[in-house]
Amino acid sequence: MAVSGGKDSFAMLLLMEEFRRRAPVRFDMVSVTVDSGYPGFCPEIIEEFVKSRNIAVHIERTNHYGIINEKKRPGSSYCSICARLKRGSLYEVASRLSCNKLALGHHLDDFIETLLLNQFFVGSLKAMSARMLADNGETVVIRPLVYTPERDIIKFSEAAQLPVVSCSCPVAGDSDMRRKRMKRLLDDLESEIPNIRKSMLTALSNVKPRHLLDLSLI
Ligand code: SF4
Repeated sequence: MAVSGGKDSFAMLLLMEEFRRRAPVRFDMVSVTVDSGYPGFCPEIIEEFVKSRNIAVHIERTNHYGIINEKKRPGSSYCSICARLKRGSLYEVASRLSCNKLALGHHLDDFIETLLLNQFFVGSLKAMSARMLADNGETVVIRPLVYTPERDIIKFSEAAQLPVVSCSCPVAGDSDMRRKRMKRLLDDLESEIPNIRKSMLTALSNVKPRHLLDLSLI
């Protein structure tokens, strides 16, 4: 499972460990952190925390920082190159460690914000998949927190005193202004439509293709 050191992936790690204890089927887990090489990033804190929970841990050290600085062109997005490199490393490590699933910590809010982002800025009706075969054709990506609202994760993170680690990248905090705008929009709408987040998530599993304009679906 991918553990960046943020609240979402730490919460997923603990919840999956609890799930593993109770599940009627046996499976093993390993926490994988990709160290992109950003100065100041402290994977040791993640390693120590994961080990303290008796969960296997792997830190993948990379030179993504150097590659991004070399490849980045004016106007290109730091995050998109960083995320692509990170995802590639995760697939590669999953394959090397013989993991048949890769769990990512995206939560309910990520799903519906992505749905809005794709409609507003890309002109496409799509969100994320809770389970899909990755582009490498062998790893199945799962997102176990799909039904968990971000505010529950924030409360959990505080109550469990998770040792959240900053990614220390050059754009941390300023990244993804569009996603932040979607969050504000949803917060505003929620004051009038209290159930809006759950309703939007439900809509993702209640699609009526005949009432859309995509001829390939009719
Ligand atoms: S915020 Fe930083 S660590 Fe996260 S994807 Fe963007 S560049 Fe990478």
